[in-house]
Amino acid sequence: MSGHVLIDGAGVGGLTAALALARAGWSITLLERSRLKKEVGAGLQISPNASAILRELDVLPRLGTAALAPRAIHIRRSRDGATIARLPLANAERRWGAPYLLAHRGDLQSALLDTVAALPSIRIETECALTDFSATESGVMVTALRGAKSASFAADCLLGADGTRSLVRERLNPADATPHVARDFAWRALVKSDRLPLDLRQPESTLWFGAGAHIVHYPLRGGRITNIVAVFGGPNAFEANADLWAEPGDPREIAARFADWDRRVGALIATAEEWRIWPLIERSPPVNWSAGRVALLGDAAHPILPFLAQGAAQAIEDAAALAIFLKPNCDVPAALAEFGAARRVRIERVQRESRRQGLLYHLSGVPAACRDLAIRALGEERMVARYDWLYGGTPVGDAGKNRRFS
Ligand SMILES: Cc1cc2nc3c(=O)[nH]c(=O)nc-3n(C[C@H](O)[C@H](O)[C@H](O)COP(=O)(O)OP(=O)(O)OC[C@H]3O[C@@H](n4cnc5c(N)ncnc54)[C@H](O)[C@@H]3O)c2cc1C
Repeated sequence: MSGHVLIDGAGVGGLTAALALARAGWSITLLERSRLKKEVGAGLQISPNASAILRELDVLPRLGTAALAPRAIHIRRSRDGATIARLPLANAERRWGAPYLLAHRGDLQSALLDTVAALPSIRIETECALTDFSATESGVMVTALRGAKSASFAADCLLGADGTRSLVRERLNPADATPHVARDFAWRALVKSDRLPLDLRQPESTLWFGAGAHIVHYPLRGGRITNIVAVFGGPNAFEANADLWAEPGDPREIAARFADWDRRVGALIATAEEWRIWPLIERSPPVNWSAGRVALLGDAAHPILPFLAQGAAQAIEDAAALAIFLKPNCDVPAALAEFGAARRVRIERVQRESRRQGLLYHLSGVPAACRDLAIRALGEERMVARYDWLYGGTPVGDAGKNRRFS
């Protein structure tokens, strides 16, 4: 009989890990506390480091035309809309070996679920929330709640893919600090593209730099809808248990915040009727990324600030890395320890670079003018080359150079 892995959480990280580990020969049970609504969330940028893995796992063909390959990242100045740089992405496949894609999070999740459904070695238990677990030298026992009923599961190991407020992380790291909630909030909206000014309806990911704030917008679903994310600091306070993805935002507040930006930004914001606010959360990888037969992946291990758009991408990389080390009949605790050690260096770099990118985006006055001059002086080729380590890198750095996950 093949070995059995329990994964707690069927988000992007948990589903991708299930696919990668099923390929490696494991049978998988995924526990998911929700009903798996497919339309949850907004846009996701799927960079080539992640799309390469999704392609290998047969997810990309299922995503199909729901994903859109932008021709460039267009960086503009808030004051007047002047172009600071246009970083070409059309040659992503040639440069990094895989496409740069824009997709609705719900479409990615559907494609992952369809791929999972085609594999008999993966079972999903929905509306089933992990409440406790214990591990011995030979396996793990998990207790969960399905409605009001208790259920238990046994497996060779447990992977906590249970997101930012991970119970598994808390149990592995009782002395860990709480997640760092940044000063900034992301306001997110989806709008019909035909309501936007023509100039803003391009097959690009557009990034507006401004003092203390930035805006990203890009088309989704063949260009029919546009995803807008505006990031700025605010007095908003979040309840400890608030739904991190569903807090409504007041359209008047965001309109006032961007009133002195280029008029096209005002028009963009005015098209959105409904805003959701997302607090930016970062947390360093824990001391105990794994302990014995239990390990963490995705946001449970390392919520990342979104300035490099790597939250989902790094969860996908974690999944591929797990399948490199965790093979049926291996020494499970040793494999999980190797996995965490191999991922830590890359994750810490992504978190560092994301933080730095955020500071650069929000400069004002003379420092902002110097930034714009420096970007222009660098030129497109050298600007794009600054992402080679990320988009063209392997999930486990040098340790994974000659090791494939499937
Ligand atoms: C609803 C939602 C919308 C998002 N929208 C965007 C977006 O628009 N753009 C973007 O860049 N990023 C978005 N993100 C963040 C991005 O998806 C994550 O950075 C990335 O997907 C990490 O995925 P993950 O699988 O590690 O965690 P998550 O996507 O958070 O998934 C964790 C899963 O674990 C489940 N879970 C938690 N606790 C338990 C438990 N005790 N038992 C069983 N199941 C449990 C949760 O229900 C969830 O399905 C969103 C995340 C969520 C949850």
